[in-house]
Amino acid sequence: MITSTLSQQLRKAHHVVAFTGAGTSAESGIPTFRDALTGLWERFDPAQLATPEAFRADPSLCWGWYEWRRQKVVQAQPNGAHLAIAELASHVPKMTVVTQNVDDLHERAGSQDVIHLHGSLHSPRCIDCGLAYTLPLASYDLPAEGSRIEPPRCSACDGYVRPGVVWFGEMLPEDAWSAGLAAAEECDVFLSIGTSGIVYPAAELPLRALGNGATVVHINPARFDISSQEHFLEGPASVMMQSLLRDAFG
Ligand code: NAD
Ligand code: ZN
Repeated sequence: MITSTLSQQLRKAHHVVAFTGAGTSAESGIPTFRDALTGLWERFDPAQLATPEAFRADPSLCWGWYEWRRQKVVQAQPNGAHLAIAELASHVPKMTVVTQNVDDLHERAGSQDVIHLHGSLHSPRCIDCGLAYTLPLASYDLPAEGSRIEPPRCSACDGYVRPGVVWFGEMLPEDAWSAGLAAAEECDVFLSIGTSGIVYPAAELPLRALGNGATVVHINPARFDISSQEHFLEGPASVMMQSLLRDAFG
């Protein structure tokens, strides 16, 4: 799509959705999942880390891996894509950020009411009774990849505390999913930024937006097939989002 057409659409939009995936945080130094060489799943087996069974089988291995990821996020800064998304909200009547990411870089860039479809690294809870764990998590130097860390225990039932992320085989948090779906169905511009779009049900959101007549734009440095009604901006999220913002709102 020619960016000037998209700029016009953004200027007259009533409701814009930014739907983000791991690629949106890549330029902050947070590894994606599926990218060749740099993706997390090149080096780690998701079945051993990102399922409830994996946690129960080896809580310290799983908790250590998520603590390593959380420390990487704590040390990272929002990049130009997070900042452009936050700024876009001040130019349009309504903006919804729906993320698959478990970091807090959108919030730290200034986005409000971010919908986290896949939970957060920063909201651990008991694996047995579900009680939120509110004590500050340990802060330490970045643990080595693969180091074991014993998870804290729940104050109510002594169960292990687990990361607050959605694992494979688990349902999405219902309120986040319904809010994300409602935004996708209501918006007139839907920006899908830095996601491979293969993890369902999240990947259904661009289709819902398209089905309801929204302009759907994919922003990604790696081209993939899209339908003839969708649009593709090929490039890194920070560059493409900053230039969209400039072109549309000066
Ligand atoms: P992904 O790793 O599948 O895809 C990342 C995408 O980002 C790729 O399309 C890549 O080309 C693109 N990208 C790379 N650098 C970029 C840049 N600078 N700018 C823009 N795009 C860039 O990640 P995803 O799409 O977010 O995966 C979907 C979701 O699946 C994840 O967010 C995650 O929540 C979930 N997931 C969860 C687990 C888990 O531990 N429970 C495991 C795997 C996936
Ligand atoms: Zn408990």
